[in-house]
Amino acid sequence: MAATNLSQHLNPVDQYQRPLRDLRISVTDRCNFRCPYCMPAEVYGERYKFLPRAEILTFEEITRFTRLFTSLGVSKIRLTGGEPLIRADLSQLIGMLSAIPEVEDLTLTTNGYLLEKFADQLVDAGLRRITVSLDSLDEDVYKEMNGRNFGTENVLKGIAAAEKAGLSPIKINAVVEKGVNDHTLVDLAKHFKGSGHILRFIEFMDVGNLNGWNMDKVVPAKDIISAISAELPLEPVDPNYLGEVARRWRYADGEGEIGVITSVTEPFCGDCTRARLSTDGKLVTCLFAEDGTDLRGPMRSGASDEELLDLISGTWRGRDDQYSVERTAMLKSGIERPAKKIEMYQIGG
Ligand code: SAM
Ligand code: SF4
Ligand code: SF4
Repeated sequence: MAATNLSQHLNPVDQYQRPLRDLRISVTDRCNFRCPYCMPAEVYGERYKFLPRAEILTFEEITRFTRLFTSLGVSKIRLTGGEPLIRADLSQLIGMLSAIPEVEDLTLTTNGYLLEKFADQLVDAGLRRITVSLDSLDEDVYKEMNGRNFGTENVLKGIAAAEKAGLSPIKINAVVEKGVNDHTLVDLAKHFKGSGHILRFIEFMDVGNLNGWNMDKVVPAKDIISAISAELPLEPVDPNYLGEVARRWRYADGEGEIGVITSVTEPFCGDCTRARLSTDGKLVTCLFAEDGTDLRGPMRSGASDEELLDLISGTWRGRDDQYSVERTAMLKSGIERPAKKIEMYQIGG
């Protein structure tokens, strides 16, 4: 990349002085699950038209965008989706991204269903750590929450394979929905306590427009912590770094730690340094955005690195998102929340 005028783009900050540090890349909008909180099966049925191949960023395009973002200060990359492990030859992309020296941290979020098959090749390609989503160990609850009637066996085998392959740390994400899986959280904690894996509970969020969210379905993080601590005593831990999304707690007996992602009850927008690149190449500056800035169009029409950097840093400088903070105010005052948000599987959480 030409070094000319690079300094004018370096380290852009947004309207609230937040720097750009992390990039989440959705490598596919397709998924082998139909979690009702993300891609309800009744909406995403057999006939649903996912993006045609030509509209999806190629590995070369993703790599070029990643280089551009790292030249602006991004050092953490997370691949997500949809389900990233169903994108053909994903390890090839991992290899291309892990070769970029400025990428200090490269990770992947997966539902784990295909992880056993891919763990070794992901590590060989340069992946060092991973997050696996697993909402419950209760088979009936898990089947309901993945919308496909899949049991936990493949995911647990995937986690074991990831550990054997050397991925570390392994984080386990569990979305908590009141009346659906909240009675199974302590079992999940017991299962992973002492394993070295970090379990993280995520408050159910109003992402997208289709998951029937309302505040009554949210279990506040403080209640999650009290429920676990009542059986497995916990104490708080300081954050590792600015912008860390999970509030950390450790077991008082030293057997590891857990996290809670408090997006609804204790928003952390003030520290949000994350950008998202959608499957079709839009730069999205908030998980709850209504739209993004098209980067793919300009790239495919021959824009130079300099022009693309202008577009990216200009978009970041104009960013004033703080949806989770505003949600609280909107809910209190009864103001309608935005009717049309981008769906989670297009930008990957
Ligand atoms: N398919 C992969 C997976 O499930 O891990 C990656 C994409 S998924 C959109 C990324 C993360 O978002 C997962 O941990 C998932 O549980 C979480 N998620 C999806 N919908 C959510 C919602 N409505 N509220 C909170 N978390 C959600
Ligand atoms: Fe698929 Fe992940 Fe969304 Fe579930 S949360 S439907 S596994 S993209
Ligand atoms: Fe960041 Fe938007 Fe989430 Fe706030 S609501 S933390 S700005 S992604």
